Formats: sequence, structure tokens, C-alpha cells
Amino acid sequence: MDSQIIMSLLVLAAVLLPAWFYLRKNRKVDEQVARAFPKAWKKILLERVWFYKELDTDDRGVFEKRIQLFLATKHIQGVDTTVDDTVLLLVACSAIIPTFAFPEYNYPKVSAILIYPGSFDEEFQTRRYEGHKAFIIGMVGVPHQQGTVILSKPDLLKGFDGIPHPENVGIHEFVHLLDKADGAVDGVPEMLLNHQYVGPWLQEIKDEIKRIVAGNSDINPYSLTNNAEFLAVVSEYFFNHPEKFEKRHPELYALLARAFKTEEEDTEAEQNPAANS
Ligand SMILES: [Zn+2]
Repeated sequence: MDSQIIMSLLVLAAVLLPAWFYLRKNRKVDEQVARAFPKAWKKILLERVWFYKELDTDDRGVFEKRIQLFLATKHIQGVDTTVDDTVLLLVACSAIIPTFAFPEYNYPKVSAILIYPGSFDEEFQTRRYEGHKAFIIGMVGVPHQQGTVILSKPDLLKGFDGIPHPENVGIHEFVHLLDKADGAVDGVPEMLLNHQYVGPWLQEIKDEIKRIVAGNSDINPYSLTNNAEFLAVVSEYFFNHPEKFEKRHPELYALLARAFKTEEEDTEAEQNPAANS
């Protein structure tokens, strides 16, 4: 064969093969999302995820499809521990709950979620011996593995035990990822907060920090670490125990409801300001 023809064929293959793999992958994802949502999965969600339980039938359907898309596009793997359907579902719920009002969002920069058998230290070891601290229960943006999230399995399960309470490490870590979507993990998620609400948000952080330091707040003092941790900690509380959060922290609640677009009227008013004038 003429060397020119061989070259042309090679160029053609270089163009067509990736396209073929891409289409094949997309078809596989479409097939997985189109499947009926397993009854056993519904049961797990109803027992553990009261955010899902509170949704109406239509929204439950949307939530289920989002779970299927997330699971079809992300790699979830246990490290020295098993990963069953409950763990898979709870990882997906952690990602979808804070972005439920953003139907197109599927964490483009996240590729893998590693499940650890327990809390771990800065060297990602879960070793246990006296005097050693393995206190990390979740992490995003692992230095050598961008796009990877790490979650401690028992803590993930504890966050979704079906009882409303302020702690949920899964939601905490995925909120860090939303914060990071604008390039900076700074507690000011530009993806969520319109410019005009950034000032009130920072002011609210300052006010609440004063209350926490004075011992007048039930928000976990870990939030004092920095603004990014503040956002992640209050978001856990906001999604995992909204009634109590609204009662105790009405100003923070209003700002977060606007940011995460959990209240429909606000979304409409923002999208079409003329309708209100
Ligand atoms: Zn954090």
C-alpha cells in the first residue's frame, strides 16, 4: 500500500476511534439511566434519606434519575472495605441533595470517590494506636489525585441514618466541591451566590462566628477553621435538619435557601425580576 494511503488511514483512525469510544460510553450511560429504579434502592432511600422522603412523586423520580446518572458516570471504590448498594446510593445522595435545584450539574471535575473503612490521617492511613490521631472523615481535592473525593464509610452512614441532625460528612464534602467550582475554596460559592448576596453572606458569617465563640450557637465550632469550613458545616445542618436550622438561624437559613435555590418563589423572582415590579 502506498505510504500516503497508510498515513491517511492512520489519521482517520485517530479521529474516529476516540469518537467511537465516546459514543459507546455515552450509550452505556444512557442505558443505565433509562433503567427502572430498583425497588430495593427506593426502600434504602426511604429508610435513610429523609430529603428524598419529603419529595413528591415527580421530584422523587427526578432524584432517582440523577442518582442513576451519577452512578453511571463516577467511579466509587472501597479501599480495604466493601461498598454495597447503600454506600453507593448515599454517596450519590450526598452529591445530589445540595445540587437538586441545578438539574444539569453532575460534578464535571469529580471522577472517583474512595470509601475508607474509617477516619484517616494526613497520610491517608487509617492506623489505630494510642496517641495517634486519625481524625479526618472526608476530603476533597486530594493533592496527588485531583478529582477524587474520600469519605469514611461509618461517617457517611451516620450522616444518613434517617434521623434529622446537623452532621452529614457526605454533604459537607460535596459542598466543598461546589465552593471550589469557581476555582477558589473560600466559602463564597460564586456558582450559588449572586454577586449582591456575597456581602450579606460574609457579614452573616462574621456575626455567627461571634455567637459561636461566645458559646451562644449550636453550630459546630469546626466551622471557625475558615470560611470554607463554615459554609460546609452550615450546609450540612441546613440540609440534614432544616426545621431546626431555620428556627435557630433564620438569617443564615434565608441566605442558604436562596443560594441552593430550595425555595421556588425566590428562583422565579430572580429569573424574572419584572414579574415582581
Ligand atoms: Zn471541610
